Amino acid sequence: MLFAEDINFVGWQRGMLSKQSADAGFGQFVRILEWVCFRRQVYFAKVDKNGTSQTCPNCGAHTGKKTLDIRVHHCHECGYTTTRDVASLKE
Ligand SMILES: [Zn+2]
Repeated sequence: MLFAEDINFVGWQRGMLSKQSADAGFGQFVRILEWVCFRRQVYFAKVDKNGTSQTCPNCGAHTGKKTLDIRVHHCHECGYTTTRDVASLKE
């Protein structure tokens, strides 16, 4: 299983990180990664970058902002616990 954040690379390349992101070819890297996962039958998904890890996928409760070091989603309303990446997936 592999998850990548769905980043708007075109917008990013016009901003502060323009030189670095264009040099590294981040968008192309994600596409290659997706292809390699497909070939090797590894589950690959892009996750929304817009705060979806703040919403419980089980009950929809707002669980608050998480710092990047917090990798687990735990809902205080319904008790649902999963990894942060799984919680961010859109159906
Ligand atoms: Zn919940």
